[in-house]
Amino acid sequence: MNKSIIYPGSFDPMTFGHLDIIKRFHGHYDEFIVLISYAEGKNYMFSAEERLVLIKENVKDFKNVKVDMFSGLTTEYAKTKDITLLLRGLRGSVDLESETSLAEMNKALSSELETQFVLSSPSLNCISSRLIKEIAKNGGDISKFVPPNVMNSILSKYGNN
Ligand code: ADP
Repeated sequence: MNKSIIYPGSFDPMTFGHLDIIKRFHGHYDEFIVLISYAEGKNYMFSAEERLVLIKENVKDFKNVKVDMFSGLTTEYAKTKDITLLLRGLRGSVDLESETSLAEMNKALSSELETQFVLSSPSLNCISSRLIKEIAKNGGDISKFVPPNVMNSILSKYGNN
């Protein structure tokens, strides 16, 4: 059976938390699609195209990993691609409540779509794109939390590079 999975998110920008999930789980599927979601009117630090480039550079060695972007419902993207699996990462129990609601809503919208939850590596639990941007804005060192290309892009957005 040819099994594809979607790993959707904002990835604004990608962190070592996201990359860890991709590294650990991509090999379990034939095709692993990192799906960058973007919504009109929402404020992102990076455009969807910029996020796509940043992720692609970090997954180029994983042959079955594709990076795509989509504005709209993930359930619609899954339907058009005939994909019935969706992956979400849980940072311990913190994400459980909101991620459960999201999974249930996706199931209500598309009964074939199953969500698989995977646990973040404990040492990366504290990483979120939001916090990284906040730390960088205030001059903190983010090199432990994001890949080098992401760090350089954040720093140049803030005019520190
Ligand atoms: P969204 O806005 O859709 O939550 P994110 O880019 O914040 O998008 O996250 C995308 C996915 O990656 C989500 O499943 C989220 O739980 C997971 N994720 C985010 N940060 C980490 C991390 N540090 N470790 C593991 N998974 C993470």
